[in-house]
Amino acid sequence: MSDDYKFFEQVNKAFDKAAAYTNLDKGLLAQMKICNDVLHVTFPLEKDDGSIEVIEGWRVEHSHHKLPTKGGIRYAMTVNEDETMALAALMTYKCAVVNVPFGGAKGGIKIDKSKYTDSEIERITRRYTFELYKKNFIGPGSDVPAPDYGTGEREMAWILDTFRQLNSDINADGCVTGKPISQGGIRGRTEATGRGVYYGIMEACQSKEDMKDLDLDTGIEGKTFIVQGLGNVGYHAAKYLTEAGAIMVGVAEIEGSVYDENGIDLQKLTEYRKENGTIIGFEGTTELKGKNKALEAECDILIPAALENQINAENCERIKAKIIGEAANGPTTSEAHDYLKKKGTLIIPDNYLNAGGVTVSYFEWLKNLSHVRFGRLGKRFEETSYRKILSVIENISDRMFTEQELSYLAQGAGEYELVDSGLAETMISSYNEINELRKKHDVDLRTAAYINGIEKVGIIYESMGIFP
Ligand code: NAD
Repeated sequence: MSDDYKFFEQVNKAFDKAAAYTNLDKGLLAQMKICNDVLHVTFPLEKDDGSIEVIEGWRVEHSHHKLPTKGGIRYAMTVNEDETMALAALMTYKCAVVNVPFGGAKGGIKIDKSKYTDSEIERITRRYTFELYKKNFIGPGSDVPAPDYGTGEREMAWILDTFRQLNSDINADGCVTGKPISQGGIRGRTEATGRGVYYGIMEACQSKEDMKDLDLDTGIEGKTFIVQGLGNVGYHAAKYLTEAGAIMVGVAEIEGSVYDENGIDLQKLTEYRKENGTIIGFEGTTELKGKNKALEAECDILIPAALENQINAENCERIKAKIIGEAANGPTTSEAHDYLKKKGTLIIPDNYLNAGGVTVSYFEWLKNLSHVRFGRLGKRFEETSYRKILSVIENISDRMFTEQELSYLAQGAGEYELVDSGLAETMISSYNEINELRKKHDVDLRTAAYINGIEKVGIIYESMGIFP
């Protein structure tokens, strides 16, 4: 990534463009834009060989208009203050767009994970948590981290365990989300961001008008797509799109790009990469030589699911996809966005499309505070009620259901079903909300999502009476 790339500036450019469509006070908008708290920590790591290394990390709480603040923790060499501020700001607007009642935050540690052993990563994670705790940057009512690039359930479990050593709050489980189920996590969180990406793209592809403009058929089935980054978000987005009948024709990973116009088997490719440490050479595919070449290959939908600044002034003219589904945060720079918009590309923006993760994190946090699994109280009751209705139908219709039909029709909703239903409802209704604003103001979806987020945060500031 180039050193002169200013991610926070990019976010604020999009903010300013959208803010012009609102009637909010200039001072209020300035307050909304800035980051409320920025924490920079450095601490020593004793490596397995006894040597000492200084580790650098950040946590940014962008907006305290709602508490707790919420946002993932990233482990990558790209992590710096500017990136963390940009990602925290994005979280504020994203949460508002999907009506998740949190302020935005983000954290990160500047490390290349591949250079550390598991026990070193555990020590880094625990010490970072301790630093956050000392400075009041973590807690179920103040700031709640989650997984992001380079982190997952394992790191979240270490964060929770460290927090619990320091604090005996009855709601301690709610200090972090994306935990393993056994540690108070929720079914459906791991796949939530990718599944949300799928719901968002599916909804966009339902628009006859938009698809006609792009010269595409309505719906997902038969559409070709390329994904950049087969990590948590990219893998799950690809999985659900494929299951819905879309065809994955290309993949870009760190080691290079592969393409097959007849479709690439996601599971087999994932196994191949696990065995060989690369996607290059996978059966039936052609290697596309050059950095991120798959981004420029022929497809209907391009899904960047790695890092920011991937579709930029340098490569945007070569992007052929008609739809870009921003699964990653900030993958398209403002210059590239403007070029692609003029060309007619439909960009489904990050500040809406990857909100499935924080949506299900919100459900996990609610579960932790209520100390009860979703569905525990109602599932059996629902099943009994449905069976009663089915038995009335049997009596009046002379049609007896088989036990298989009964168990299918009389199914009560468990935790996974409720989470998935809440996620689908959130992604679909939020898409329609921003799409209405897009039509109303004749703007693109990104600007519409920002208008939506800014107005919702603005109403809260105004109702606090801070601003006349
Ligand atoms: P991850 O660490 O699970 O996976 C990222 C993948 O991208 C890895 O497989 C990595 O090898 C690959 N990658 C890195 N650089 C690449 C490059 N230049 N070209 C091709 N591939 C590359 O991370 P993730 O959690 O899937 O996050 C991906 C993106 O989604 C990030 O922008 C993150 O902020 C965003 N996001 C994640 C979540 C979440 O719940 N994890 C939620 C919202 C947004």
